[in-house]
Amino acid sequence: MDKKKITNIEVKKKNRNEVFRYICKRGTVSNPDISYNMKISLPTATQITKELIAEGLLEEMGELKSTGGRRAKALSAAVNARLAVGLDITKNHITLVLTNIGGEILKYERICQPYVSEEAYCRKVSERLELFLDECGADRDKILGVGISFPGIIDLEKELITYSHILGVENLPFASVCAFFSYPCFFLNDANAGAYAEGFHGDGEEHFFYLSLSNTVGGAIFDGNELIQGRNFRCGEVGHMTVVMDGESCYCGKRGCLDAYCAAWRLSDAADGKLEQFFSLLEKGDERAAGIWDSYTDYLAIAVNNIHMVLDCDIIIGGYVGSCMGASRLRDIREKVAARNTFEEKESCVKACNYKVAAAALGAALKVIEMFVSQI
Ligand SMILES: [Zn+2]
Repeated sequence: MDKKKITNIEVKKKNRNEVFRYICKRGTVSNPDISYNMKISLPTATQITKELIAEGLLEEMGELKSTGGRRAKALSAAVNARLAVGLDITKNHITLVLTNIGGEILKYERICQPYVSEEAYCRKVSERLELFLDECGADRDKILGVGISFPGIIDLEKELITYSHILGVENLPFASVCAFFSYPCFFLNDANAGAYAEGFHGDGEEHFFYLSLSNTVGGAIFDGNELIQGRNFRCGEVGHMTVVMDGESCYCGKRGCLDAYCAAWRLSDAADGKLEQFFSLLEKGDERAAGIWDSYTDYLAIAVNNIHMVLDCDIIIGGYVGSCMGASRLRDIREKVAARNTFEEKESCVKACNYKVAAAALGAALKVIEMFVSQI
């Protein structure tokens, strides 16, 4: 094939993809609207939408209101033409999410299911997933795959979970998990999955750090539409950043790591293991809770400021802590971070997460959706 031909095919594919993404974002559009806003000819826009309709990815929704002249056909993305499942595996629970091409949560469920590294566990999770799909009335043929969020280091090249301290996993091949599911499986680290959920609806210009404050501390860098992985797929592992020289023991065996000071259990342990209860104690003015929060946010502010100094971008507070805390608690963190910041900034770099429930499961499902959309 000559070079020019390849280029033409590539341009056509790129146009098609951009048109589909444009329609997904805009909701309902017409061919003249696509042509005008995307700066492509009307015959090209019409040809692309015709193909997408034939493939079942677009739907004709009647006619748009006339602005003079002939009424234009209204077109919308057939968002339910394909579906993806997100599965978040944690020490004691699994969370399931069903989403469509538009990234909407169609159903979600959190189930108590303690992790055990045995085949019976995978079989059980697969059964729960099928039951969940039955309850959703989901058409199995539409399911693109299962995005699996896992609290560990995910090596996408060697295709294995290299390490998860909390689940006691080492070098677990993806294939040994995939074998139990009837759909293609894709793996993501939990902080990466949370970050992906936060960035999915952005405009492709998003740059932020997602700080996952759950029972372990992790993080992820979202850059444009991508997650930065690092040489060993450990990018963003700020839980093991030293915040206190020779400080408290961390589960990793070192001392003074952020995880030892800012894991969610540091707060929930003061409220019978319930993080929501900790925050409600704090709201009620409980002095002990206030003291714990004060110390917690001292260390958190050091970490957030350090991350901000390296990356110069927003830091989204996610994970259990980010999901449970209210606006006044975010203000506490912002104040402490601002006090540490060398540079004056008009707006705080510290942001609350948008997804308070099932963020990691949703992010994992959205990764599957994105893989499909990028091929359209
Ligand atoms: Zn550590």
